[in-house]
Amino acid sequence: MTRLLITGARVLNPEADDAPLASLLIEGDRIAAVLPADAKVEDAATHDASGRLVIPGLINAHTHGHGALAKGAGDKWDLALLLAHAPWVGGGRGLHEKRLSTTLNAVEMLKKGCTAAFDLHAEFPGPTADGLDSIAEAYAEAGLRAVLAPMIADKTFFQATPGLVEALPEEHRERAAAMRMAGMEDILRTLEGVARSWKHGAAGITLGIAPTIPLHCTDAFMQGCQKLADEFGLRMQTHVSEARYQAAGGEIAYGSTLLAHMDRLGLVTPRFSVAHGVWLTPEDLALLAKRGAGLAHNAGANMRLASGIAPARAAIEAGVTVGIGTDGSSSADNQNMFEAMRLAAFASRLWEGAEDDEWLGTAETVRLATAGSAAIMGIDAGVIVPGKLADLAFLDLDHINWLPLNNVANQLVWTEDGSAVRDVMVGGAWKLRDGKVLGLDEAKLAREAREAAARLTAANAATREWCDKIAPHVACHCRAMAGGFTRVRRLLKAD
Ligand SMILES: [Zn+2]
Repeated sequence: MTRLLITGARVLNPEADDAPLASLLIEGDRIAAVLPADAKVEDAATHDASGRLVIPGLINAHTHGHGALAKGAGDKWDLALLLAHAPWVGGGRGLHEKRLSTTLNAVEMLKKGCTAAFDLHAEFPGPTADGLDSIAEAYAEAGLRAVLAPMIADKTFFQATPGLVEALPEEHRERAAAMRMAGMEDILRTLEGVARSWKHGAAGITLGIAPTIPLHCTDAFMQGCQKLADEFGLRMQTHVSEARYQAAGGEIAYGSTLLAHMDRLGLVTPRFSVAHGVWLTPEDLALLAKRGAGLAHNAGANMRLASGIAPARAAIEAGVTVGIGTDGSSSADNQNMFEAMRLAAFASRLWEGAEDDEWLGTAETVRLATAGSAAIMGIDAGVIVPGKLADLAFLDLDHINWLPLNNVANQLVWTEDGSAVRDVMVGGAWKLRDGKVLGLDEAKLAREAREAAARLTAANAATREWCDKIAPHVACHCRAMAGGFTRVRRLLKAD
């Protein structure tokens, strides 16, 4: 087993509130010991990390690899508008683009100090074995760990949203109504085959499953997903109550919250996590806690899409495992976990009526983005203690962000923007050295990204024109649904 002694660095403590000088002994893929700075170890290679701050690699609890080719696609979009534009934003992708987008996503995370991600990857009209293999290879090539959870549904946005097709101008209804996802049987059969033959576990890439949004999935489909999750031990993540119109749709379709409905179907388990959860009720949070489930908190994307501020403090108080995510780059526009921490901590200060003891503190926010996200992914990382996976990010303390070093936790969340990240190690192996990705050719990646963007812009032009026409009607309808939310709840309760 290889042994490596990392010397001279400041090492973030488990509480994430201090980083004393220490040496780190790595054996194989794990942290073997945190030693005094002057410790001598026989039979170990040494790595001089003087002037570096070593932190656990940040862990992205919610992203979408397919989003990276679409960073910067939208401006004043709420979630309904993002979904209305999805046909062109993610359209025209072949195997090459699927892998390329995931590689871009993974490389950006790696360069910004992130070592693992829960990735909900979409393929239209449904997941394919080739597609999933190629995105798993993309993560392995960049060197990150991942839970790859194919984002699936058996209903389109238009089928899923009550009254939406009827709200469109006559001439667009037929096209919207005719859109179809792959059939339930096809999707579930494909995933069963993929799960049976999964070969990426050794690279730290596990298969998950992501029935995307409850309203977009029939009950039979969600139960089919759960059956696969049970059979193969898959982590599951779903966008639940992300936007107010969806919470309203849940009341209309199920007469309950979306989460309560999923729980009735048996989907809320210790391997389950909610993404976003902006409109989760206190009862929903109690339910998540009771089932041992988690919440991936994506404060940045929630603001970008005007969804609101998720009740992360209430979730923590209720006993829910909370992690931090960026969301995909079609709604977050970058994969910067430092920014995700900063926005989560900022957003917590805007909870109506919240006193400062309810805000997210900086050390606490770092723990959510490391140990919290690790728990959601089910990986044994996220804190620098003996026995944990050696997934580490090395920051340059001579970088302007750290001149001077006043307070580690505060500066990790308030000051650091990823630009001081110099080196990253995953499972004891270097994946980023001096800012350069070791596993792939970055110049080639840049060339391919530009070529793909040009090709996709041309291929999706006509679809984009149509989406532009229907978008205002979609926005209008979903905002009316959201506005009627309180009234719907009251009417249903009066029944
Ligand atoms: Zn998402």
